[in-house]
Amino acid sequence: MSAKILDGKAIAASIRAEIKDEIANDDIKCGLAVVLVGEDEASKVYVRNKIKACADTGIKSYAYYLQQSTEEDEILQLIDALNNDSNIHGILVQMPLPSHINEKKIISAIDPSKDVDGFCAINLGKLFLGEKDVLAPCTPSGIIEILKRSNIEISGKRAVVVGRSNIVGKPAAFLMLKENATVTIAHSKTQDLGLITSSADILIVAAGKQELITQNMVKKGAVVIDVGIHRTENGLKGDVQFDEVSKVAQAITPVPGGVGPMTIAMLLKNTLNAAKKFKSV
Ligand code: NDP
Repeated sequence: MSAKILDGKAIAASIRAEIKDEIANDDIKCGLAVVLVGEDEASKVYVRNKIKACADTGIKSYAYYLQQSTEEDEILQLIDALNNDSNIHGILVQMPLPSHINEKKIISAIDPSKDVDGFCAINLGKLFLGEKDVLAPCTPSGIIEILKRSNIEISGKRAVVVGRSNIVGKPAAFLMLKENATVTIAHSKTQDLGLITSSADILIVAAGKQELITQNMVKKGAVVIDVGIHRTENGLKGDVQFDEVSKVAQAITPVPGGVGPMTIAMLLKNTLNAAKKFKSV
């Protein structure tokens, strides 16, 4: 048995094309502010990719590059101005922030209707309440899109999410619950992880531990979604031992080219949705 490869890159490309068409056909004005504080090289790459993705789809981006030494108050003032700017429909502050800045304070200063990362307590609370039209965190909603667009049934299935971070694991679990999966969340204190993971029809792994999931931890015929990203001498690797696990899984996301490209696509989608909502109020 060899697993079907769930091509996140191709799915993300079709989502981006749909966004581009909708913005052009309906003449939607859509603006995303991207704030980068400091000189973190990986963050610079992420920001560059997000700005390019905006340009490709017709979203106007506004980039703010602030020095590493920028005071918290200055960032809060910028966010306040962006909250009140009618050209801006989404605000993204690239994480991580320098250590003298309180990330929680910054996230909660963003107007929830412009919080296109979906990280603030109000948006996460709405997700918890199962409300519709929530700005949900991009990586978890990208996972749901991969499953749906690959015609993988979620309702009634047993899902295991490995990882309970606020940006991936927990929201992924709630989104799967919203889709009527029966969900188990595993974490670093979980005992006998393999026993839990091998019960999954859909296994989502966001542990940040390279190749943590081995073949014997996966049920034959399971769908495996690998969120992990690890830069190694041999290129990018995930949290799943791809070569071995793909021999038993029914379908699997590769790294790279699986969940990664979906994150930016869902950021663009959240920005478009925020702009449409702004237009309608
Ligand atoms: P965090 O480090 O914030 O969270 C990791 C989670 O995994 C924690 O809940 C932790 O448990 C759990 N965990 C750690 N080790 C184990 C273990 N041995 N067994 C079971 N659970 C374990 O990471 P993130 O959620 O931010 O990211 C996870 C991975 O996804 C990373 O590799 C990251 O690079 C990648 N990522 C990829 C994105 C993409 O676009 N593809 C976007 C965001 C992240 P505990 O809570 O007990 O500590």
